[in-house]
Amino acid sequence: MVQSSVLGFPRMGRLRDLKKANESYWGGKLSREDLLAEGKRLRLEHWKIQKDAGVDIIPSNDFAYYDHVLDHIQMFNAIPERYSQHKLEPIDEYFAMGRGHQKDGIDVPSLEMVKWFDSNYHYVKPTLQDNQTFTLAQDPKPVREFLEAKEAGIITRPVLVGPVSFLALGKADRGQSVDPISLLEKLLPVYEELLQKLKEAGAETVQIDEPVLVFDLPTKVKNAFKPAYEKLSALQGNKGPQIVLATYFGDVVHNFDIIDSALQNTYGLHVDLVRNPEQLTKVLEHLGPKQILSAGVVDGRNIWKSNFKKAIETVETAVQKLGKERVIVATSSSLLHTPHTLASEKKLDEEVRDWFSFASEKATEVSVIAKAVTEGANSVKSELEANAKSVQSRATSKRTNNPEVKKRQEAVTKEQHERQSSFTERYEQQKKHLKLPTFPTTTIGSFPQTQDIRIQRNKFTKGEITAEEYEKFIEKEIRDVIAIQDELDLDVYVHGEPERNDMVQYFGERLEGYAFTTHAWVQSYGSRCVRPPIIVGDISRPAPMTVKESKYAASVSKKPMKGMLTGPITCLRWSFFRDDVHQSVQAQQLALALRDEVVDLEAAGIYVIQIDEPALREGLPLRAGAEREKYLSWAVDSFKLSAAGVKDSTQIHSHFCYSEFQDFFHAIAALDADVLSIENSKSDAKLLKVFIDEAYPRHIGPGVYDIHSPRIPSEQEIKDRLAEMLQYLKPEQLWVNPDCGLKTRQWKETKQALTNMVNAAKFNREKY
Ligand code: GLN
Ligand code: ZN
Repeated sequence: MVQSSVLGFPRMGRLRDLKKANESYWGGKLSREDLLAEGKRLRLEHWKIQKDAGVDIIPSNDFAYYDHVLDHIQMFNAIPERYSQHKLEPIDEYFAMGRGHQKDGIDVPSLEMVKWFDSNYHYVKPTLQDNQTFTLAQDPKPVREFLEAKEAGIITRPVLVGPVSFLALGKADRGQSVDPISLLEKLLPVYEELLQKLKEAGAETVQIDEPVLVFDLPTKVKNAFKPAYEKLSALQGNKGPQIVLATYFGDVVHNFDIIDSALQNTYGLHVDLVRNPEQLTKVLEHLGPKQILSAGVVDGRNIWKSNFKKAIETVETAVQKLGKERVIVATSSSLLHTPHTLASEKKLDEEVRDWFSFASEKATEVSVIAKAVTEGANSVKSELEANAKSVQSRATSKRTNNPEVKKRQEAVTKEQHERQSSFTERYEQQKKHLKLPTFPTTTIGSFPQTQDIRIQRNKFTKGEITAEEYEKFIEKEIRDVIAIQDELDLDVYVHGEPERNDMVQYFGERLEGYAFTTHAWVQSYGSRCVRPPIIVGDISRPAPMTVKESKYAASVSKKPMKGMLTGPITCLRWSFFRDDVHQSVQAQQLALALRDEVVDLEAAGIYVIQIDEPALREGLPLRAGAEREKYLSWAVDSFKLSAAGVKDSTQIHSHFCYSEFQDFFHAIAALDADVLSIENSKSDAKLLKVFIDEAYPRHIGPGVYDIHSPRIPSEQEIKDRLAEMLQYLKPEQLWVNPDCGLKTRQWKETKQALTNMVNAAKFNREKY
C-alpha cells in the first residue's frame, strides 16, 4: 500500500502553549520540571493529532524547545566553551546558546541565528572551532523522544538533520578558521552511534534531512555525501534504521551526480513536488533499483488546501513506475511553517475558509491522498468531491479578481520607479532640510511592546474600549516614547509602532485582498511567533494606513520623525501568498498601495520614511542563476515603485535584518535608498567591505548591537564596533543604530543600551 507521512509538525501547540511555557520559564515563573512536562504534553498531543488523522509515518524529534538545529549542536556537544564552562543545567545551557544568558555573574551573548533557507524560520548556526570534537550526549534527544512516543503506543520516524547539512549550514567561530565541512570525519562516528541507539530503541526508519541538496554546492560539500552515506547506509536494516533522505524547498536535479554516486543506497528519497513538480520524471530515473520515493505533494509552506486531483495524478505517476510499496505520500517539507489548526479560526469568512488547510488538516490530506491511490477514488469519494468543490470555488470567486487593480498595473511606467534626481543632489537637499549631525543616531522603528500595550489592544479588539479611548492611549504611548527619545538625545525619532501587532499583519488588516486569522501563528525564532495574513485576492489600499499616527508623532516631536512602512516584498513574503498568480504580480500590487501611503506621509509632513525590507533576501531563489536574477529584478522594481513618489528632500530609508548580501549586492545598491540600516552586530564587520569595494555612495547604519537578546552592550563595545566599521565605511556615510526593532525587549535594557549607543556616536562625532 501507499503510505502517508508528515515530515515534521509545528511545535507551538494550539494556543502557542510552548511560547507561553518558555517565556514563563525564562521569567522565573515556571519551574524546569513544569517546562519539560509541558514539552512532553505537546509532543504527545501532536503525535495523537497525526495518528487520528490517519497518518502512517509520524515524525519524532521534530519538536524543539527553541530550534532543532540547536538541539543537534547540543546533542553532538558542539557547544562553544563560553557556554559549556558554566556547567549550567542542560536546558539552560541550551537557552544560553539560543538567546544569550546574562544572570548570576554570567554574561554571554547568543549564537548567531539565521534564516532557514527561504523561509521566515530562523535556525541557530552551528559555530565550530579549529580543534572541534564531537561526542554524543548521554541520553540523546531523538532516542528519548522516540521512546516517549513508543510508550504512548505510537511508533514514529525520528527526524535528524543530516551530517552534511549540519556542517554546511555551520560556520567557524569568531577568530577560528576551520572549514566546517572538513570536520565530517570527526562527526560521522557520532551519527553512527546515534543511529545504532535509535535502532536499539526500536526505530525501523529515520528521516535524515539534507536540505542543502537543493543548493548549488561547492565541490567540498558535494564530495562529503559519499563518505557520509556510505557509512550511514551500511548500517541500515542490521545495526541501524532505514534512512529516508529528505530534501525540500527546491529541486535536486542539478545534484543528481550526488544522488547517483552516494545516495541510491539509502532506503528512500524525499523530494519536494509542490515547489518543483517537474523534477518528478527525472527523479524517478535516478532512484536506486529498490529505493522508495517519498513524494512531497502537500504544501508544507503555505495554507492552501491541496488540489487532490492533481496530487493523486502525481502520486500515480510514481506508482506506475515503482509500484505501491515504493511510494509514500508526504508533506513537501516539515509543517513547521504552517499554523496548528484551522479549527481555531472562528472569525474567518466561510467562503475563504473553505480554501485553507493548516497543519492538522494537512495531516488528513496526506492520509486521504494515500488512501485514494491505495484503494481507489471510491474509498474517499466524499472527500474528493468536497475538495473539487473548494478548488473550483476559489478559482472562480469574485474575491480573487479586482479589475481596477489590474487596470492600474497595466498603466505602470518605467519613470514611476525612479527618484527625481541622483543621490548626490538628493542628499544636498536632505542635509538642508533635515539638519542632522554626523553619525546620526536612530532606531529601527518599534519600541518595547509592553504588557500595557497588549492589554489595551486586546480590549480594543474585544470592544471593551472605544476607538477613541484606544486612540488616546496610542497617542499617550507615542508622547512617552518621544519623551524618552528626547532624554536619550537621539537624532531621528520614531513613533514606536505601539499600534502595530506585527509589521505585516498590521498592513494586511488595512489592505483589500487580504484575509487574516486569529490563531494562525507560525514560529519565527525561539518563542517568537508571527501570524502571517493571507493574500487571497488582488490588493488595494482603501485608505491611508499609518498617516494618522506618524502625523501625530511629528506634531509633538522637535526632531525629524521617521515614518515606518513594511515594504512590498516583506508584505508578500511574510504573508501566506497566493499560489494562483505569480509573486511578482502580488508584489507590484503591494508596491502601488505603499506608494500611495509614502506620498500621503510626505504630504502630512513626514520627511524621513523607512520602508523595511527584511524579507528581500529570503525571497531569493536558493540557486544562483537566471531565476535569481529574475526575482531580484521584480523585487527591486517593487521597492522602487513604492518609494519613488517623493521629493528629493525626503529621505528614504530601508532596513534589512541580515548583513550577508555579498552575493546580491547589485540589487541592494539598485534599491537607491538614501539610507540602509542592516543587522551587523553578530557578524564580522568585514562583511561591510563590499561597500567600499563597490564604491557604494549612499549611507549605511550597520547595527551596533544585538536586539534579540536582553544583554546590554557597553559603551566601549559599541565604540569598538564603530571603529571596526570605520575600516570599511566613510565617517560621513555611517549611521548609528541597533540591529533591528526593539519590540521584544524590556524598557530597562533598551534605555541603557541606547544611552551607551548615543554616547558612542557622540564620541565619534567629536573625533571626526
Ligand atoms: N520597523 C520594524 C521594527 O522596528 C522592523 C522590524 C524588522 O525588520 N523585522 O519593529
Ligand atoms: Zn530588522
